[in-house]
Amino acid sequence: MTETTSYLAFHAADVGDDEIEAVAAVLRSGWLTSGPRVSEFEAAFAETIGVRHAVAVNSATAALHLGLEAAGVCAGDEVIIPTMTFAASAEVVIYLNATPVLADCDPEILTLRAEDIEAVLTSRTKAIMPVHYGGHPCDMGPIMDLARRRGIVVVEDAAHSLPAADRGRQIGTIGDLTAFSFYATKTLTTGEGGMLTTDNAEYADRARLMSLHGISRNAWNRYKKEGSWRYDIQAPGFKYNLTDIAAAIGLVQLRKLRAMWQRRCEIARLYDEAFFSLPAVQPVGRRADIEHAWHLYAVRLVPSRLRIGRDAIIEELKARGIGTSVHFIPLHMHSLYGSADAGNLPNATAAFGELVSLPIYSKMTNEDAIRVVETLSDIVKTHSR
Ligand SMILES: *Cc1c(COP(=O)(O)O)cnc(C)c1O
Repeated sequence: MTETTSYLAFHAADVGDDEIEAVAAVLRSGWLTSGPRVSEFEAAFAETIGVRHAVAVNSATAALHLGLEAAGVCAGDEVIIPTMTFAASAEVVIYLNATPVLADCDPEILTLRAEDIEAVLTSRTKAIMPVHYGGHPCDMGPIMDLARRRGIVVVEDAAHSLPAADRGRQIGTIGDLTAFSFYATKTLTTGEGGMLTTDNAEYADRARLMSLHGISRNAWNRYKKEGSWRYDIQAPGFKYNLTDIAAAIGLVQLRKLRAMWQRRCEIARLYDEAFFSLPAVQPVGRRADIEHAWHLYAVRLVPSRLRIGRDAIIEELKARGIGTSVHFIPLHMHSLYGSADAGNLPNATAAFGELVSLPIYSKMTNEDAIRVVETLSDIVKTHSR
């Protein structure tokens, strides 16, 4: 084993000279906020996904909020969310004075299943928010069937899943609305940013209106040469627009998306091969008929094979220069949502104590990945039983 003092971060963004040049060009242009670069980014994104409408916003949280709002979620409604997700998925439901209802997940893949939804469905269920955990798509067929039968809207949290596909269908084209994240650690980044996709023109128009104060015309359309100063406030909207600075980064990142994804696939394969022969480390399960975005490579540390717990192993990895994370502390284990009945969420609860997410990003070298494998292998062998 080679000791090294360098620290392998859990994540580093894959941005370079092209992104820097694109930002510089926007700054030189004199137009910084939503304008021509945002329009171009929306069109290129819609084309990449194969969807009619893409609305650029300043976060996935904003996209989820606007998606639920466009779908008509309001006070008294319930929205089903998997407990195995990030804060953002549920908080947007509360923004709308509706109630997030927590559901369990597949015991191995950790994605929301139709049966998890059925277990908490009520007459007040207005929407379902599947979260494609780590970049692994939920099994959308049964979820869409259930939603269509009941007249329930499906708003997907696809913060992890660009690019990903379920049985050959691209994520972003399946549910009624889908939210993507361009947060700094995500598979495409603009620093902060997000996109809402839909094939439904009414949803897209409503989200666009609400993304910028509920006013009829954005600033670019008012201030460009042929624009008019007049506008009309039509609804109490939000301030969720993306800047041209961010969109310029996004356009470059979109051109690199395939290559960055392929690199993550290579690292996932390298990890798969290594952990196949290491019974104490079990990669989170997956179906064969999907395309995985590999935003996360999460493993479970099998308690019956180890004399120390997950938290101690994370500390040892850190001491030896490997950054990791845990996705997620299920929502029902936080103060805000603590009243949810954990007894009904056994799969997420059981997974939480064993999960650790390993570094996986396009800037990692094979040597970086091998170092992760060797360090983790060494730690679990030392503490195995
Ligand atoms: C990152 C993330 C979000 C929020 O994305 P932002 O762009 O930071 O708002 C939402 N859901 C999940 C599952 C995430 O991981």
